[in-house]
Amino acid sequence: MNNVFRWASWVGVLMAFVFGLWLPQMAEASGQSHELNYFQTSKVKIAGANALRIEIGMTGDEPKYTVKELSYLRKQLIITLPNTERGKVKSFISLKNEFATQVRISEIGENLQVAIDFVNPPSKDNYRISTVPAERRKKKPARIILELFKDNVDNGGASVPGIKGKTIVVDAGHGGSDSGAVGPTGVKEKDVTFAVAKKVQNLLTKSGARVIMTRTRDVDVYAPNATDRQELQARCDVANRDSRVSLFLSIHCNAFSSPAAHGMETYYCAGSAKGQEFASLLNEELAKAGGLFNRGVKTANYYVLRHTNMPASLIELAFVTNYNEEKLLRSDAYQNKLAGAIVKGIARYFKG
Ligand SMILES: [Zn+2]
Repeated sequence: MNNVFRWASWVGVLMAFVFGLWLPQMAEASGQSHELNYFQTSKVKIAGANALRIEIGMTGDEPKYTVKELSYLRKQLIITLPNTERGKVKSFISLKNEFATQVRISEIGENLQVAIDFVNPPSKDNYRISTVPAERRKKKPARIILELFKDNVDNGGASVPGIKGKTIVVDAGHGGSDSGAVGPTGVKEKDVTFAVAKKVQNLLTKSGARVIMTRTRDVDVYAPNATDRQELQARCDVANRDSRVSLFLSIHCNAFSSPAAHGMETYYCAGSAKGQEFASLLNEELAKAGGLFNRGVKTANYYVLRHTNMPASLIELAFVTNYNEEKLLRSDAYQNKLAGAIVKGIARYFKG
């Protein structure tokens, strides 16, 4: 997007959401309750990078609030304000920018709930929240200020050396009609593998690699309800039909009938020295970053290891059937850690 267009689109955002919502009102007699009277979004810079500021103002003193992050399925930040009414601020505000898609404000009993739908799962790395007292000179009421910015993964951190120019296939296990294993609270393997695969893709791309994903959304690669063989062959075909591919990585989560089973492990195809090296480096990095019990580097007859023409590894990040590990697997911060570890392993592999 060129700058003029970007600027124009932000003006659009501002035009749409600066409601002139500074509606001066007397604070409630009790002094304890609040009523919203101000809502504004603006484009700001944080550490030189684009950020979004959302200001929610209200009558009375500096507000008290609690925050809850929904990181996995909803990607939502929920701010709860006790003893607060919505006032004249709209209950639904569409944002549609690179940080957030919408804000929904609802009165729940005595409390007000402000739910912001993030584009990425909210984490301490991509937002901050604070309050400011009323500023008479600026004619602004007491406000909550929420700032959203790009998280570490999106920033790419430093580009990882040794990866530039390489072509790597990243296979997010399962997808579409096949959810893979499902954890005790309903976390689906296909969603975790995809989230981590996307993060790996981002990091690799920022480091100059060419990344081919076997799937780019929640779909079957072959077709819904296909046989395992058809589905897995389709994933191998993605890698085998491009002669530039020098590495194949398949991401999975483990499952077992007993919820006590736990830990991480990596696999390669018996007889492949390069596959073994790759699986070993991934294992080392995942163990270091993820901190789980290390079940080791193993061989297995997995279809995608046997039928890909390049060095390949299949990794089991953790047991989605284990309560604690399921919780980690659904955490954005933990997924970032694992993705970083995987990319380190890949970089070490190419350095030889
Ligand atoms: Zn799996």
